[in-house]
Order: sequence, then C-alpha cells, then structure tokens
Amino acid sequence: MNLSLREIQMPQKAAYIIDVLEKAGFEAYVVGGCVRDSLLGKEPMDWDITTSAKPEEVKGLFPHTIDTGIAHGTVTILLQKEGFEVTTYRIDGKYEDGRHPTEVTFTPSLREDLRRRDFTINAMAYNHRAGLVDLFHGLEDLQKGIIRCVGEPLERFSEDALRMMRGIRFAAQLGYEMEPETFEAIKKLAPSLSKISAERIQTELVKLMVSDHPDHIRLAYEAGLTEVFFPEFDSMMQQPQLHKHHLYSVGEHTLVALRHTPKDKVLRLAVLLHDVGKPETLTVDEKGVTHFYGHPAKGKELARTILKRLKFDNDTINLVCKLVYFHDFSTGVQATPKNARRMLHKIGEEAFPYLLDIAYADICAQSEYKREEKLANLALWRELYQEILKKEYCVSLKSLAVNGEDLKAIGIPAGKEIGEILNKLLDLVIENPAENEKQTLLEFVKMNHLHR
Ligand code: ATP
Ligand code: MG
Repeated sequence: MNLSLREIQMPQKAAYIIDVLEKAGFEAYVVGGCVRDSLLGKEPMDWDITTSAKPEEVKGLFPHTIDTGIAHGTVTILLQKEGFEVTTYRIDGKYEDGRHPTEVTFTPSLREDLRRRDFTINAMAYNHRAGLVDLFHGLEDLQKGIIRCVGEPLERFSEDALRMMRGIRFAAQLGYEMEPETFEAIKKLAPSLSKISAERIQTELVKLMVSDHPDHIRLAYEAGLTEVFFPEFDSMMQQPQLHKHHLYSVGEHTLVALRHTPKDKVLRLAVLLHDVGKPETLTVDEKGVTHFYGHPAKGKELARTILKRLKFDNDTINLVCKLVYFHDFSTGVQATPKNARRMLHKIGEEAFPYLLDIAYADICAQSEYKREEKLANLALWRELYQEILKKEYCVSLKSLAVNGEDLKAIGIPAGKEIGEILNKLLDLVIENPAENEKQTLLEFVKMNHLHR
C-alpha cells in the first residue's frame, strides 16, 4: 500500500480552529481516527482535535462552544452549526464505558496524549505546520496492515477491556491482521471483557458486522471473546454438520454466509444468527447424518435471548428474530405466484426482501450439492416477489380495496367482526388478486355477512 501524507486535507474549519489555538500560543492537531482514515484515502466521519489548551482556555477563544465532556477535557466548538470536538492533551485513568476514563490528568505533552491511545494507527496527529506526528510507527502499521497496541498490550487491555473488541473491529473494518503480541494479550485477558457493559459490546459487534470483513468475528472466537458475550457462537463453531448439503461446521458455514451478505446491520445480524438453533436441536440418524429439526424456531428463541442480552432495541430484535425464524422459508414450498403472495402475507412486506438475501447467502455457504437448483429456485422467488410489487398486488390490509369505514357504511356493526371480515377479504384477494375491487368486495360482504 502506498500512503501519502499529502492526502491529509482537513476541512477549512478544522484548520481554522487549529490556527486560532496556535495564534493564542497553544499547540493543536487533528488526531486519531480522522488521521488514520485520511491516510487510507477514506473520508473521515468527524475531525477530532487535540490541544495543549485547557477546556476553559478553548472556551475563551471561540464564541460558540458546548461542554461535551468537560471533565474529560472535551469541548465542542460550533462553527456555523458544525461541531468539532476539541480535547485537551491528557493522560487517562481507567476507562469505564470504553469512551471516557473515570479520571484524567491534563498534560502539556502531545507524546503523553498519543501514548494513551489504543492502537498505533489511531495514535497519529497532524497539522499543516508540523506535518504528521507519528511517534509509535502508526504509518508503518497502516502500510503493513497491522493492528498493534501502543505500548505493552497486556497493560493496555488491562486498563480498558473494550480495546480488545475495538482491535478486532478495526481489523475487520480494514481487513488487517492482529499483531501477534497484541493478539496473545487478548487471548489472555479475554475473560475481563465481562467487565464491559453490554451496550458498548453491542456497538463494537455491530461495527464488526457491517464491516468489509464480518467473518473476522472468527478472531473474537479464537481469542475467547465471543465466549464472554456470545457463547452460542462458540457452540456453533464447535458443531459439525455431516450432511450432503453441507461442507462446514455450523459456525464456519455462518462465516462463509456472512461473506455473501450485503452490508446491512439487520441482514448481517440475521445471517450471524440464522443457524444459532442448530447445536441445541441436533440429532444423528443411524447413518451418522446430522439433522437439526426445528432449528429455526429454536434459533428465534435463542436470537431473542442473545440480542436482549446485548441490549439491542426492540425493532431490531423483532425483525432479526423473524428473519431467523423464516430463513428457510422456501424449503418445501413451490415457487408459484399464489404461494409467493401467501408467503409475503405471512412474513410481511418489510421482512420478505431481507429473506431473499439471507437465502442467497445461506445457499452460497452450503455444499455444491443441488446448488444450481437452489439458486434457480431462489431466482424464481425473487422474480415472483418483483412481480407482486410491480402489479401492486394486495398482500396486506393496508392495500385492501376496502377498510373498516367502508364496512361500517354498509351496515356492519363496529367491533371485532370488522377485523374478521377484513382478514377474510384479504385471504380472498391473496388467492385471487383480481377481486381487490371495492365494489366486488362489498358485494361479497353483503352476500355473506348481511341479512343472515
Ligand atoms: P471510529 O470513529 O471509526 O469508530 P475512531 O478511531 O475515530 O474510529 P473513536 O472511538 O471515535 O474511534 O475514538 C477516537 C480516538 O480516540 C481513537 O482514534 C483513539 O485514538 C482514541 N480512543 C478511543 N477509544 C479509546 C480507548 N478505548 N482506548 C484508548 N484510546 C481510545
Ligand atoms: Mg471517531
């Protein structure tokens, strides 16, 4: 990889902040993630600034500031509504939530501030005057593609256990390797991840999952980290599949499937969990073939427990669980227009398109046995789905040609009968889309439900 310093082009506003601080006699640099990402030619998410000025001094120099984390030295400077976090050079005590150390000491030394940072690639600073300040060979590690702790890994992970997850997450985002000593330290200290809150682990897991290399979760497994927050994954890795449809253990199959899954949080989580029910539903027949009858239902139940444990929000939990439950929706169901409408009704219009992607990833991670057939069948489901969208066929109450008010208007009393009739009409139009006409449906209701 050829990385060039000239590629660091900070936004004018960041340059302005640095300029104001320097003119007032302080040091100031952009630092951390934005320097790393710029060197990689990626657009940084945000530009953090580190300075020798104390928070009060920063606030004295800019008219619009917010006390974002003043106790930790962070002030947000607002320039035309755009915020820039400016943090005083500091030495950290222990981190509690993985972002903010419990106690900090300000320091006049940039070196000290860079030394507290987690990985060499995150410990570089830059300004136009001094150029790149790279005291821990971050550029070299960026070039080599290595995640390495600043300083002694055992010490650094003991200070803050979340760094272990961050390290693997950066490896997954960048497609990098873990430096061996850094990785060995994670292996030793993995159990201490239990001190970190579920919310912070969730953040790292999601970043890992939506990265370019979601299968790097394997590193978290090998290091003993998944055992702490997701032991069900360890069971998957240890569950062989002896069956003509399969090549890999449940876990390896899942990793391959993740590589074939579009970069989307819900999709990747659903693929990660789609077979989580397998280890608990294992049976082995007299020929030694493994079966996992009922694993989608078991998987749904386990997925809920796991996602709750990791404090995911209810919308994510409900959708992912539904996808796990229906992940092999097409098994044993013929791809016909009517079955597609029924399936879409059963699964829901939001979830169904996800299932097409999940089924594709699943097939790609199975053995070659009948693969072409499976892919062709899936392509057929996709076509049928697109046809339903194109023709705007009704598969849910919201696109039914009549609603509760229409029923009341022809004399159906308010109450639960309305809902029952609407669902009956929906079944009717799912079987026969041409019936989704207001007059036709109202006639049907008059015939069957009035004047009985
Ligand atoms: P991204 O924002 O893409 O997750 P980042 O490197 O910007 O990556 P942040 O969490 O935004 O990560 O943190 C900004 C910088 O603060 C990091 O680059 C690193 O220098 C430092 N940092 C963040 N968290 C820690 C930590 N737990 N231990 C040590 N340094 C940290
Ligand atoms: Mg950042």
